[in-house]
Amino acid sequence: MVSRTIPRLAIIIPCYNEELCLKTTSEKLINLINTLISKGKISDESYLYFVDDGSKDRTWNIIEELHNSNPLIKGTKFIRNFGNQRALIAGLESVKEIGCDCVASIDADLQQDEGAIERFIDEYMKGYDIILGIRNDRKTDSFFKKFTAEAFYKTMKLFGANIPMNHSDYRLVSKRTLDIMSLYPEKLFFLRGFFNEIGLPTTYVNFDVKKRMAGESKFNFSSLMALALNGITSYSVVPLRFVAVLGFFMALFGFAIGFETVIEKLFWHNSPNGWATNIIIMCAFGGIQLFCLGIIGEYVGQLYREVKARPRYIKDIELL
Ligand code: UDP
Ligand code: MG
Repeated sequence: MVSRTIPRLAIIIPCYNEELCLKTTSEKLINLINTLISKGKISDESYLYFVDDGSKDRTWNIIEELHNSNPLIKGTKFIRNFGNQRALIAGLESVKEIGCDCVASIDADLQQDEGAIERFIDEYMKGYDIILGIRNDRKTDSFFKKFTAEAFYKTMKLFGANIPMNHSDYRLVSKRTLDIMSLYPEKLFFLRGFFNEIGLPTTYVNFDVKKRMAGESKFNFSSLMALALNGITSYSVVPLRFVAVLGFFMALFGFAIGFETVIEKLFWHNSPNGWATNIIIMCAFGGIQLFCLGIIGEYVGQLYREVKARPRYIKDIELL
């Protein structure tokens, strides 16, 4: 593996209505950066980059204040809410422009133990390009969150979008990873799938999850579902194959029933009294067909949005 020099680290933090967390978060992260600088693990040009994802509270004012008090704090503000994935993408693209050797992403509520970033750096120095944080357990999650998270990974796996279990968006990647990312023109970019498939040296670091320090979770069941659907349609055609295979077997079944009906008619002159059978088959087949159309529709929708090629996000202001 490659030998590396002390890196310039950027930490990106997506924020949506995080006025209650930001001060503590930035204090803790700046402390972390200073500690790592004094240990000689990162360069003294390392910095924080906040992405305000169109917050409606004082989030941006706080970022401005922080920036004025410390030049290591940079950030941008979107003109509206684009969602956490796009905020992360914007962070990655921005720090590539500003300059960095590696970049870590962490949530604004610091639920992920920020201390693990030091271990991320150690792995980076060993030559890894992608270091994924894997959470130790889900003790701090509610039953609903546990259930939806589990359903998310299982659905993804079932439909062929293979992403590491219990890895959210807490990771560190090298500049080289960012360079490869810029070769991907797709607008509906699924970060976790991308980092998993590019094939750069990858390793995992375990970390503990804490309770959200203040405010409420910005994710609900439907945003998680949307993320899962985007992940599946971006990274897998398994559902389309499933439709094809299902269609084949349904047709086979249809032919068999047809054949049986003809034989019965010809040899036994049995006129059918199968009203219930008819209705059941009609409903079942109708349902399956609609379901399959829905699956295909998801891919058509993905294509539709991809073809329109609207910007992934729009920055309003940037503080460098
Ligand atoms: N977030 C964002 N845009 C959104 C929703 C969330 O930038 O539309 C940010 C949020 O501020 C936080 C991170 O994404 O930094 C993760 O969100 P949250 O902590 O609410 O999710 P959870 O930890 O409950 O999964
Ligand atoms: Mg959180």
